[in-house]
This record gives sequence, C-alpha cells and structure tokens, in this order.
Amino acid sequence: MRVAFLGLGIMGHAMATNLAKAGHELTVWNRTPGKSVEGAKTAANPAEAAKGAELVWMCVSDTAAVEQVLFGANGVEPVLTEGMVVVNSSTISPSAEKSFAERVRAKGAEYIDAPVTGSKIGAAEGKLVFICGGKEEVIQKIDPLFATMGKAIVYMGENGKGQTAKIGMNLMIALIYQGFAEALVLTSKLGLPPENLLQLVQQSMVRSGVTDYKAPFILKRDFTPNFPLRLMHKDIKLMLDAAHESRVKLPGLETVEEIYEIAAEEGMNDLDYAATLELLEKWAGVQVKGS
Ligand code: NAP
Repeated sequence: MRVAFLGLGIMGHAMATNLAKAGHELTVWNRTPGKSVEGAKTAANPAEAAKGAELVWMCVSDTAAVEQVLFGANGVEPVLTEGMVVVNSSTISPSAEKSFAERVRAKGAEYIDAPVTGSKIGAAEGKLVFICGGKEEVIQKIDPLFATMGKAIVYMGENGKGQTAKIGMNLMIALIYQGFAEALVLTSKLGLPPENLLQLVQQSMVRSGVTDYKAPFILKRDFTPNFPLRLMHKDIKLMLDAAHESRVKLPGLETVEEIYEIAAEEGMNDLDYAATLELLEKWAGVQVKGS
C-alpha cells in the first residue's frame, strides 16, 4: 500500500521501519528534519507525505501535535480524499480524538484510533498491541499493516474508545509502578535486598507485566527511556482531564501526578518513568541496589 508515516520518534521510527521492510510504498515525515527510514522517501511536510497516499499513519507526542499534523499549516486535511484511511497511534485525549475523526470523515476519509502498548521493544520487534476505535470493516481492510507492526488488535468500539481504553490501561501502569517503587524503597530501607522481594513477587499474585518489565532495569539502574517520563506525565494529565470532564474522582492518581510534577522540575523528563523511583530514594535516604 502507499503509506505516509508521520512522526519518527522512539515508536514511530521502529513502526515505519517495519512497514518499509514489509515492502510498502512508504513516505515518512518528522517535524525536526534529519530523521529518515531506510527504503522510504522523506517528505518536507505532512501534506506532501500524505498526498496520493492510501493510508496516513500518525505517531506523534500528544493531542496538540496530532491537531497540528492534521489541521495545522501544511497539514494533512487539504489532501484528504474519499476512501483514504487515517490512523492515529499517538496517545491523546479521547474527546479530541472523536472530534478529529469527525473532521476527517467530513472530507470522505476514514479514521481509526489505534494507540499502542508494547513500548520500544514491542515496536522494534513488530509485537505491538493496537487498541482500536472506529469502524471494524476499515480495521479489517488494513489488517496486514497492523500485522506487520503488531501481534494483536483489541477492538474497543467507536472512535475515541481506543484512546479511552489506552488511558485506562496506563492509569493502572502508573499506579502499579508507583506501588512497586514504594515497596522496593521501603523494604530496602528496612534492610531487605531487592532480589529477595522480587523473588517473592515472582511467586505471588503481585507479579505483573509491569514488575516483570521494569525489575531488570531497576536492578541495573538503567533509566534510559523506553517510555519517557514526560509522556507518562502527559498521559496522567489526559486521565485527570477526562476524569474532570466526566466528574470522576481519582485520588490515587492525583497524588502520583504530584510526583511526576516534582520529577519534571528536577529535570527527569527525558528519563524513563521508572526513574520516579529515584525521588522516593532521595526522600528515604536509601538506594535500591541489586547485588
Ligand atoms: P517521542 O520519541 O518523544 O517522539 C515524539 C514524536 O512526535 C517525534 O517525532 C516528535 O517530533 C513528534 N512531535 C512532537 N510534537 C510535535 C508537533 N507539535 N508536531 C509534529 N510532530 C510533533 O515519543 P514516542 O515514544 O515515539 O511516543 C509517541 C506516541 O506513542 C506518544 O503519544 C506516546 O504516548 C505513545 N506511546 C509511547 C510508548 C513508548 O513506550 N515510548 C508506548 C505506548 C504509546 P520531533 O522529532 O520534531 O520532536
């Protein structure tokens, strides 16, 4: 298929690379020039990339970035045509996603929200899970592309529902990780080696994808970004905004958001979100150290 891929960050670059390897006719664009994908043409702006494409795939930071790419200067909107499909793999506001979908559909094109889970490793290995909202028949039509970049599609309902599920899932990840980090800091301060706690976690109902994924990085003190702290913070704000819009109270998340505020002020934005552990360590005067 003729595909335009917009946004070559941690996730987008790996996803576009897998599309190029699978033989799609790919044109890529990134806001900051200088990024490219082997086997793909590089366009000067989103409109140039999307012109004549059958499919436009976006993976950029946040709601404002998606709005800019679609409807800003040199955005995709003027080159949308009947039957073209726009897919958004960025994590953004569910209500904004719904209105973007309506604006794209008004031009005769289709729109799918397809935020992802699986992080940097899942993107590189083509093992992402796509959390989809939109028309099922459109998703089926482009299934080979999902299969190239991912291992599963989970269908959530109409446009916006993919984003709704994604922020619900990331809410759990943020709180599970916070609990994991707090337990590691407390038990380390009480003199228990982290490997001992991890051994117990592995044998118990506490074990989760989050603890499995993060434990090796914590033991190596490796906080290079898989999922940058600034993006988890952005997602937490999306959850709190959605909660505010729908009059839902999230007291646990509100407290965790304060930790991310402090982490941002301390210059940790571009580390992995697992680095929030370091703040707890500083306050406790202890370090979680693997032997
Ligand atoms: P990233 O490495 O920070 O890349 C962000 C991309 O967005 C870059 O290409 C950046 O361009 C572009 N961008 C930012 N603001 C823009 C704007 N106003 N207009 C156009 N482009 C803009 O982020 P990522 O890790 O690839 O994440 C991308 C999306 O996937 C985010 O919504 C994130 O929440 C979601 N996600 C990430 C992970 C993960 O583990 N990393 C997992 C699941 C979902 P520049 O190069 O010019 O800055």
